[in-house]
Amino acid sequence: MSTTLEIVRIPVLSDNYVWLMREPQSGSVGVVDPAVAGPVLAEADKRGWKITHILNTHHHGDHVGGNMEIKSATGCTIVGLGRDKARIPGIDVTVDDGDRYRFGEAEGEVIFVPGHTSGHCAYAFRDQQALFCGDTLFALGCGKMFEGTPTQFWTSLSRLRALPDDMRVYCAHEYTQSNARFALTVETDNKALKERSAAIDAARAKGEATVPSLLGEEKLTNPFLRADVPSVQKAVGMTGKDPIEVFAEVRHRKDVFR
Ligand code: ZN
Ligand code: FE
Repeated sequence: MSTTLEIVRIPVLSDNYVWLMREPQSGSVGVVDPAVAGPVLAEADKRGWKITHILNTHHHGDHVGGNMEIKSATGCTIVGLGRDKARIPGIDVTVDDGDRYRFGEAEGEVIFVPGHTSGHCAYAFRDQQALFCGDTLFALGCGKMFEGTPTQFWTSLSRLRALPDDMRVYCAHEYTQSNARFALTVETDNKALKERSAAIDAARAKGEATVPSLLGEEKLTNPFLRADVPSVQKAVGMTGKDPIEVFAEVRHRKDVFR
């Protein structure tokens, strides 16, 4: 049965996005990475939606902080990566790389993407063109490398990059404008990046969100997905080097960027 997920963005804390989604055939309602409970419960309530699932991408407090309160209010099922189950509060269902998780009539593929944390995953709903990637891939950026190695992180980003261009990137933070400022210091001559950056500035000036973005535009403009692209390698003085080393250099530059 074909279906179309309804996906709602809930801005919480200073710059987090929680994603609330409903699968209309079954009435299943999922929350991806509830940083907090109150605004999520209120949004679901306002729509008459009953939360049945929480999908967690990783253990950080700004992604699981609302788990227990939402679970006690709704009795929902909490889904997360089995290898990090000790750090996901209230976890009921453990998944692993390559698993297909049924969410009503929709299906999300679990992709293990270590780098930001050692137990991070993404949920790719291919026929919905929806990628929930937590803090692994951001619009024009990627997460900080807290628990992973450059090899892991580059491998993870490469796996996400292999998904189709028309996937929408539902990441967990509104960091796009500062990411764009940094990206422009790496690739000064990337025309698509310049145009995108101008559009982002215009959107933010109007107070609009820049997430979700399209994976296709990330492939053309996000420096962290482009460590094997000659123009990026040249820009950081590493022509012909291993993309893992180039990724590590770009990540380091971002860490010290002000
Ligand atoms: Zn995080
Ligand atoms: Fe986060």
